[in-house]
Amino acid sequence: MVLRKVKRVDRLTLNDLEERFSPDVLDIFKRVYHNNWLDAITSITKPSKRYFLRINSTDVDYVIDKLSKEGLTVRKYPYIDEAVYIDVEYINYDEIPNFNGAVIADRFAAESVIEGANLYMPGVLHMINVKKDDTVAVLDPFGAIIGIGISRIDSSDFNKMSIRKGIAVTITHPFYKIPSIRELESFNNGLIYPQSLPSMVAVKELDPQPGETVIDMCASPGGKLSYIAFLMKMQGHIYGFDRSERKVNILRETLKRLNIKNVHTDVMDSRYLDLKMPKLQADKIIIDPPCSALGVRPKIASDITLKKILDYQQYQIQFLKAASKILKPNGIVVFSVCTITPHEVEEIMLEATNKLPLEPIKQELFIASRSSLNNYNFGKSVQRFQPHIDDTPGFSIIKMKKT
Ligand code: SAH
Repeated sequence: MVLRKVKRVDRLTLNDLEERFSPDVLDIFKRVYHNNWLDAITSITKPSKRYFLRINSTDVDYVIDKLSKEGLTVRKYPYIDEAVYIDVEYINYDEIPNFNGAVIADRFAAESVIEGANLYMPGVLHMINVKKDDTVAVLDPFGAIIGIGISRIDSSDFNKMSIRKGIAVTITHPFYKIPSIRELESFNNGLIYPQSLPSMVAVKELDPQPGETVIDMCASPGGKLSYIAFLMKMQGHIYGFDRSERKVNILRETLKRLNIKNVHTDVMDSRYLDLKMPKLQADKIIIDPPCSALGVRPKIASDITLKKILDYQQYQIQFLKAASKILKPNGIVVFSVCTITPHEVEEIMLEATNKLPLEPIKQELFIASRSSLNNYNFGKSVQRFQPHIDDTPGFSIIKMKKT
């Protein structure tokens, strides 16, 4: 196969983006980023250049040292004590070996392969002219190359398989290289937790203090909740809820691995938390609800529609309704979403402050390059991380106080 004829996932054109993203998604990017919308959406198709980890220990230097002994060089992030990051290596395209044949991955598998994960059988859509042990190109469903690897099977065998499991392609040259954190002793000992910078900022904005009553309404897998409990020195009343047994089990595993104790976890539809636990009164609540996830990187395509986004909006506001009833007077609620749509950010704030006893309050650790969008007047009570400028996921945080 001739390399220069294969489309590269890091060189998408306007036509490619129009093929990969629904008209509604393109419209939203244009509305939010105006002349810079192409930069913004292109950056979403690639991972951030910094991969952040949170140090789950008060002795940050000790963990940094331990990581370095395990082969991982991290740098301290100046504005958050527990935040460190690794520089993500981008592929040197000149070093790509020749390959025979191609393996097409589905979108979800492609988004992992692009960062160095192996390609597993269930994520394979097709194999074209592939022999076992050959060097092959892995392509995304739109035909762009996302990595090179060694095929573990022949295409003819793949077609005959009734149960598809195991590794299909061992990736040797991903487009972006992120070290496998989960294999490190420091990870298994609970000294680190991979967490995006804006997620950490959301928790810092909540500013949980030892002794307070703090609730995470959408807690699994527990990234934010474990940070909350850490900052509270595990003292106080700390609650983490999620909607299914499976999710709560995942949450408990995270807390266990990170050695976080004194957290009350339960299966709960938190939209009705005020009815289910009528005596609960909180100083602080964090809501990190399901969202359109348009800021998650790398995202190589999205067919989400405006209708679906409006469904998320309606769903999200229900958590705020319950939160507004549970909060003590002057209590704080932080609402965060890994997306950039005004529908799930400013419009949520508008609805909450118009119809609920909540008012916007200024954020203190203002790291993002953008506050609220111009046609809403929320200023610094809204923090918008812009992927193409801040080198983070597209992520939004809103902060309110109970009146
Ligand atoms: N805060 C988490 C990530 C949350 S993702 C972290 O930092 O690690 C959103 C979560 O909301 C999912 O786990 C989902 O199961 C949960 N969720 C969705 N609807 C819910 C509901 N009605 N009640 C409680 N949790 C819900």
